[in-house]
Amino acid sequence: MNASLRRGVCPGLSAPLPTGDGLLVRMRPPGPILLATFGKLCALAGECGNGIIEITARGSIQVRGLSVASAPRFAADVAKLGIAVQDDVPILINPLAGLTADDIIDACALAAELRRALARQPFTAKLSPKISVAIDGGSALNLDAVAADIRLRAAVRHGDAVLQLSVGGDATSATPLGRVALGNAAEAAVRLLDVLAKRGRNARARDLVAAEGVAPFHSAVAGLLIGEATRGVTHPAAEVIGTHPLRDGSYARGIALPFGHADASLLQNLLQVAEQAGANRLIAAPGRTLIAAGLPLGELSDFAAAAEELGFISRPHDPRRRVIACAGAPFCASGHIATRALAPRLAETVAQLHDGLATVHLSGCAKGCAHPKKAALTIVGSPHGCALVSHGSAQDAPFAVVASDELPAAIADYARRPNKREARRV
Ligand code: SF4
Repeated sequence: MNASLRRGVCPGLSAPLPTGDGLLVRMRPPGPILLATFGKLCALAGECGNGIIEITARGSIQVRGLSVASAPRFAADVAKLGIAVQDDVPILINPLAGLTADDIIDACALAAELRRALARQPFTAKLSPKISVAIDGGSALNLDAVAADIRLRAAVRHGDAVLQLSVGGDATSATPLGRVALGNAAEAAVRLLDVLAKRGRNARARDLVAAEGVAPFHSAVAGLLIGEATRGVTHPAAEVIGTHPLRDGSYARGIALPFGHADASLLQNLLQVAEQAGANRLIAAPGRTLIAAGLPLGELSDFAAAAEELGFISRPHDPRRRVIACAGAPFCASGHIATRALAPRLAETVAQLHDGLATVHLSGCAKGCAHPKKAALTIVGSPHGCALVSHGSAQDAPFAVVASDELPAAIADYARRPNKREARRV
C-alpha cells in the first residue's frame, strides 16, 4: 500500500470523498498544466463526474460527481495525462514558482527535494492527512495568507539565500523558529514533520505549539539553525488577479472562478480564448483562481475581457469575491441551503452596499468548510432557515434566522446597523 492510501482520509485520487453529488477528488498539480492537457482533464471531469470543477482557497483542483465505478478510471486517465498530481503530504509553493524573475530560490526544486526525502521516510504514514508544508520562494505572489503546519520562507541574509522556518499558521500567526541554509531546508522540514508524526495521527503544528510550546520543534532543528527566531517582514498581499511579468518575456494573467467553481464546458471555453490569446499553460492558484501563462503583452486585455465575458472574474474588486460559498445543497448531503444558487444574488446585494461588509460567508451547514475563520457576516443553513452570524464563524451563535428569500433584505438591514458587532444573539 502506498503512503497516500495509508494516509487515507483526504479526497485525493486514491481516496475519493463521498459527497451529496457523488464522489469528490482533490488534486494538487505541482506546477503549470499545458492547455491541451487541462482540456483533457475537463473532458474527463464531464465523462467520469458531473462536470463541476472547483478551485479551492489553497489552489487545489476538485472534480465532483464521480461514481464508485468511474473514480478508478478517472484516476488512471489522469495518470496517463502526465499530470504529476501530489497525493501525499501537500507541499504548497508559489503559483508562479520558477516562472518569475523575482524568486529568491527555486521553490519547485526545493519542493521536489523535500518530496524525495519524504518518500524515504516511513513516518509519513503516521502524519495527519491535513498536514501541509508551505515553501515560499520569495516572489510577489507569496504564500503569506496560506496557513500551513510547516513554513519555509526564502530571504536573503548577507548575500545568501536562507529559509525562515516557522510552524502552525499563516505568515502572521505561525510561530518562528529561526533560519536555515538552503542546503539544510529539506532536512529541517523532514525533522519538523517527524516531530508531528511522533505525536500521533491527529497532531497539528498549531495545537502542539499551544500544548507544549515551541521547544519540541526547536530542539529537532537546533543543529541546523543559523539565526535567531524573528517575525518575518510583512509583505504586500499577494493578488493573483491581474498581470504578472514572466522571466521569459511573456506574461501571466490571473482570473478567478466565481465562488470557486465552474462547469467543465465553460472551462473548455476559457481554454479556447486562452489559446487564441497565445497562452500555453494554466495554473490553479490560491484564492480560487486560475492563471493563464505565456501570453504576449498585446493580448492581455483581450484575454481578460474574453474571460469576463464568459463569467469569470478578471477584476480584483469584483463584489463576487466578497462572497465565499461552500458547495451546499444539493451538492453536499449536509447542506440545508442551496449556497451556489444563493451566492450570485448575495453578491449583487453586497455590491449595492457601501458599508465595508468585507466578507460574507455562505455556509450550507455549521461545519463552515469554505471559510473556517470569522467573516463580517456568516450565513449558515439550518433546518430552520438561514442563521445570520455577525463577526463570527459558522459555529457561532446567530443574531437572526430568516428564510432564503428574505436574505437580501436581511443583509441590507444588517449593513445599515451602526453597531454590527453588538447584534444580539437569538
Ligand atoms: S459547510 Fe456543510 S454544506 Fe457546506 S460543504 Fe461543508 S459540510 Fe457541506
